[in-house]
Amino acid sequence: MTGEKPIFDRVGLIGLGLIGSSMAWAMKRRNIAGHIAGYARSEQTRARAMELGFLDSAHESAAACATDCDLVVLCTPLGVYRQIGEEIAPVLKSGAIVSDVGSTKVSVINALSPVMPEGIHLLPGHPVAGTENSGPDAGFETLFDDRYTILTPLSDTPTAVVDRLRAFWEACGAMVEIMDAEHHDRVLAITSHLPHLIAYTIVGTASDLENQLAREQADETDMVKTSDVIRFSAGGFRDFTRIAGSDPVMWRDVFLNNREAVLEMLGRFSEDLVALQRAVRWSDGDKLEEWFTRTRGIRRSIVEQKQAGTFIAMETGDDD
Ligand code: NAP
Repeated sequence: MTGEKPIFDRVGLIGLGLIGSSMAWAMKRRNIAGHIAGYARSEQTRARAMELGFLDSAHESAAACATDCDLVVLCTPLGVYRQIGEEIAPVLKSGAIVSDVGSTKVSVINALSPVMPEGIHLLPGHPVAGTENSGPDAGFETLFDDRYTILTPLSDTPTAVVDRLRAFWEACGAMVEIMDAEHHDRVLAITSHLPHLIAYTIVGTASDLENQLAREQADETDMVKTSDVIRFSAGGFRDFTRIAGSDPVMWRDVFLNNREAVLEMLGRFSEDLVALQRAVRWSDGDKLEEWFTRTRGIRRSIVEQKQAGTFIAMETGDDD
């Protein structure tokens, strides 16, 4: 694509962490944007972004960053979307597309559509790709390669706008899927949000147990030693700790913004957990083997569809 006209003359990235910086690198790889402007709340992140070289200009406010942009993408935690939307609304160029990368979609529409002026196209998006790392140093140009980016158009979003943003994400390496926002939130609740909740739970539970064992040992020997829970953490638990190491603010906002869908999936999960608990209690080997054989088949089909990389780790539980 180098040498061809960029898809957007000027792109504004609000938030320069893992996703914002990866988008900038992916844009630079293929000359997708004529100019990449960026904003992060801290001077430190803005300076680091310029030093790393993934921006053409860094700005001290979201409004300054969004000025004159054809595409503005919100790449911050979900909890500040409304505030940023209000701040950039007065400066948005007529005909500009406002999009985002947030992990929930109904809440994004609710936060942004009331504050978007006439003549601006709101088109939310979600690259289902990531890692457990954060900040401007965490980004890399191939993050979106062969991963899905989901776009959730509103009922009045023009087809030409959807096509343009689709072309943008495809040029960034992604496969694009169009989806209704509510459907997105239910699907991601089970494939990404619940696995994170489970990881946060199990790592917390293990840590509590570790503290208790350490106290018990100290009572016996007068010494506090690292307990066996962490020392012998095997593959399964280690994978959970990686997911549970994901950004606390980002994930706080995901659960606050996808409450209903997460609660629904948690209900389903709890029922199945009790069914497996019962199989263990009653030594029902057939039931356990049948269940594990089915899930092994699911894992194999994910690998065959080449979706077992970073995405599975962060956003679905093998990843991102
Ligand atoms: P990140 O690495 O933590 O970066 C967040 C960026 O937002 C930073 O530049 C930060 O600025 C800025 N920011 C944070 N709080 C802010 C505030 N109150 N006001 C203004 N700017 C603020 O996060 P990320 O992983 O890129 O995630 C960003 C978005 O992508 C989230 O909405 C998340 O749901 C979505 N997402 C994440 C993943 C993933 O795996 N991480 C995957 C798909 C989608 P400073 O550096 O100055 O603090």
